[in-house]
Amino acid sequence: MNNPSPVQSIAEPARSVPVPAEYDVLVVGGGPAGLTTALAAVEDGLKVGLIESRSFLGGNMTIGLPVLGFLGQKKNQIIKGLPQKFIDRLRAVNGASEHRWCPLHMGITLVEPEAVKNVALEMLLEAGVEVTFHLSCAGVVMEGDTIRGVITESKSGREAVLGKVVVDCTGDADVAYRAGVPCEKGNRENGGMQPPTLMFCLAGVDTEKLRMSIANHTRTYLTDFIPAEYFGQNHQFIVVGLRELIAKARAERGLDIPNERTIIITGLREGEVWINMTRVTGTDGTDVRSLSRGEIVARRQINDIHTYLKNYVPGFEKCYFTKTAPFLGIRETRRIVGHYTMTQEDVLGCRHFDDSIAVASYPIDIHRPGDEGCTLIWCGDCYDIPFRSLLPQKVKNLIVAGRSISTTHEAMGAIRVMATCMAMGEAAGRAAKQAIRAGVAPDQVDVRKLQAELREHGAYLREPQS
Ligand SMILES: Cc1cc2nc3c(=O)[nH]c(=O)nc-3n(C[C@H](O)[C@H](O)[C@H](O)COP(=O)(O)OP(=O)(O)OC[C@H]3O[C@@H](n4cnc5c(N)ncnc54)[C@H](O)[C@@H]3O)c2cc1C
Repeated sequence: MNNPSPVQSIAEPARSVPVPAEYDVLVVGGGPAGLTTALAAVEDGLKVGLIESRSFLGGNMTIGLPVLGFLGQKKNQIIKGLPQKFIDRLRAVNGASEHRWCPLHMGITLVEPEAVKNVALEMLLEAGVEVTFHLSCAGVVMEGDTIRGVITESKSGREAVLGKVVVDCTGDADVAYRAGVPCEKGNRENGGMQPPTLMFCLAGVDTEKLRMSIANHTRTYLTDFIPAEYFGQNHQFIVVGLRELIAKARAERGLDIPNERTIIITGLREGEVWINMTRVTGTDGTDVRSLSRGEIVARRQINDIHTYLKNYVPGFEKCYFTKTAPFLGIRETRRIVGHYTMTQEDVLGCRHFDDSIAVASYPIDIHRPGDEGCTLIWCGDCYDIPFRSLLPQKVKNLIVAGRSISTTHEAMGAIRVMATCMAMGEAAGRAAKQAIRAGVAPDQVDVRKLQAELREHGAYLREPQS
């Protein structure tokens, strides 16, 4: 008897689903962009709901990363407003450091992941945002070219949640993509995306020994772009480099280290560091099987990286493994095609835009899809994020904030850091609110009024060029 051919697809019968909630502004995704979107939108009494697929808020701010982007290349603070208010609240519970200058990353703001989860939730609840966890956007509710809400999937089954304006803060443009917004992925050559990393935490590290070894033994411990003196002067820091030590560990012990650079981030707690070194090339964060393979491969990489650090890097002699981040950190997936697509030239040309809604300065920082290296290019000052890059083509009443706004692969490598995503979120939330108050679609919002409201609430925008 012949084997039956494998089933390729099945038809899911159409059905009615309950609508448990209807909001003025529906925010999908509670990462850095989603938090500030919701806080800005709810400020003067609108009904705002935020749905989040995980059981906590914070997105990538909970995986052991420092927040980058508050300081510009001229050492000035370029992101203020709600993102700063969030950091102030974290600092009040010892959950964040000050913004520290770093020659490679410009500004480093260390944050404690558990504090991020708690403070974010408290701030949203205090402000009156209705937060629903364990709720994933699985589809959209459309009326012609206007989005009315999203179809959700959860323990409660399939439901619909509606919003007059929907803001997609999923990082993956999940809402926009399902609504039919044209999206792009990866680089021009072959669609290659920056590889993801499963962050992990080590304790028992003598970070004083680490920094003084780098400061005092400049020929042995070579760091990328950050001069050795910096480590002599700073107790909290990011180490990037030590390439020779990796080469030695590979040659002497055959260790399988998927990265040519050592990246160590000091934690807020004494002796604790976060390691940003696993790397799974070829992962597509929007494909569940690829994502699962990424989780498996990254987890298997940790052992050799740990062995390397313990045996070759000063200060790690007595270190021990404590935990992995709650999920594989995805650097890049979809980018929407919006009313304007930011490019490498805009970033490197320090471009001003008339419709600027945020100022950024982080360099183009691309963990290259095809090899073990990284490309870093600085512009020398700062560049604007235009409102049009948050507005998707083809769909009305939808705004996108965070790493999936309309950019090229290269520009995305610059705008993706968390302070910048929070600043975009604040603008998206205020734009959603103004659109509802004025009874217009977000692309009809008066940009001057939006900029005035942002400034009134403490956001930093550059003066228009004459
Ligand atoms: C390994 C790694 C290292 C990095 N290093 C730094 C660094 O040092 N400093 C820095 O500032 N930035 C760093 N970045 C970049 C930065 O973390 C991200 O670009 C940034 O967090 C993007 O913010 P976001 O709000 O757009 O998305 P995210 O932080 O990804 O948040 C998206 C949120 O939406 C939720 N969500 C997703 N899909 C759905 C759905 N369908 N339904 C409901 N909810 C959904 C997610 O659970 C998540 O909470 C790094 C990124 C990675 C991966």
